[in-house]
Amino acid sequence: MKLETSGGVQAAWFAEKVRRAGFPDAEAFAAHFRLKPYRLRQIYRAAAKELAADIGDVTTLPKDLRAALAERGFSFDAVVPVEVRRSSDGQTSKGLFRLADGNEVEAVLMEHHGDRNTVCISSQAGCAFACAFCATGQAGFARQLEPTEIFDQARYFARELAATGKRITNVVFMGMGEPFHNYDAVMEAVALLNDPHGFGLGHRHITISTVGLVDKIDRFAGEGIQVNLAISLHAPNDEVRGAMMPVNRKFAMAELLAACERYVAKTNRKVFFEYVMLAGVNDTQEHAQQLARLLSGHLYHVNLIPYNTTPDGAFSGSEAAQIWRFAAVLDAAGVPTTVRQNMGRDIAAACGQLRAETQPKARFRAGLKR
Ligand code: SAH
Repeated sequence: MKLETSGGVQAAWFAEKVRRAGFPDAEAFAAHFRLKPYRLRQIYRAAAKELAADIGDVTTLPKDLRAALAERGFSFDAVVPVEVRRSSDGQTSKGLFRLADGNEVEAVLMEHHGDRNTVCISSQAGCAFACAFCATGQAGFARQLEPTEIFDQARYFARELAATGKRITNVVFMGMGEPFHNYDAVMEAVALLNDPHGFGLGHRHITISTVGLVDKIDRFAGEGIQVNLAISLHAPNDEVRGAMMPVNRKFAMAELLAACERYVAKTNRKVFFEYVMLAGVNDTQEHAQQLARLLSGHLYHVNLIPYNTTPDGAFSGSEAAQIWRFAAVLDAAGVPTTVRQNMGRDIAAACGQLRAETQPKARFRAGLKR
């Protein structure tokens, strides 16, 4: 039987969900339950568009079919929330999610005074890039996430928001992991988020943040989609960057910035640079001037990020006044700069922080590594 799909996205979603229920492919699944194409469309739509929590809630399906699907282990969610914390100001919720194999990942919802609802999602369990200041990097790499394990993090918060008549306006790949180290799955997750027959989030409302994998930046430039690109730069020179980001040994800054120029030339889209402000490490006036020289005159935007201290406490964040002085130098040089609003400090909302608390083993491994 041929599946009628919305541009292959629905087929990819089914392929993963039915494999989890023990079927070789969607055709075998459809044949087993004698499902016509319209039933498959109903199921996909219920999960991706109507955000149903569970197959049992989909009242458009016959009751015995729902029971049969549930009994066979067909499930909408590849991630199960194990702990959800809400910050005291009510604007940030952080979820820790368990995967089928027991690995855990984090996602965060930030409600910006009702005008934007941004969800930050993870692309990997752990991370292989070991940035010295990052809690996820300190704990090491566990495994790649599959597309719906990524997508279902957004689905969870979309469902929570829908309960009060709100919706997700932005998704950022700034949770655990390096999205470009799991490139194909991340692009499939983007397709699921974007599918007009499903979740329906516009490409321009999605941002992928990378540690700076040059080959993948070039590949991404060729995708022809309007998804935003953010680069974790964090330093104005190779000496400072190399000391805290091992990836800089593979792709030095000149090479990275050349890739960013190629990206802008090809797509005519802005590149966002993230710069986490670390006291005494990368936050002096000289660093700011050096960064300004490097970035001025391009279609670039700098986002200065107040640092959230990680369990090992090796770095401390710059004072607010120092951050604003740094921003002023960039501003004077004509480099568009914003200072990221800090949210959810009281609930360990920065990358990898909550898991580091709940999975002490991960921290122990990090301790052995250094
Ligand atoms: N691997 C991707 C996504 C990682 S997290 C990347 O490197 O871009 C998204 C951003 O959060 C990155 O810029 C990362 O450097 C930053 N970050 C990590 N730990 C942080 C912390 N404790 N405080 C503030 N920002 C942090």
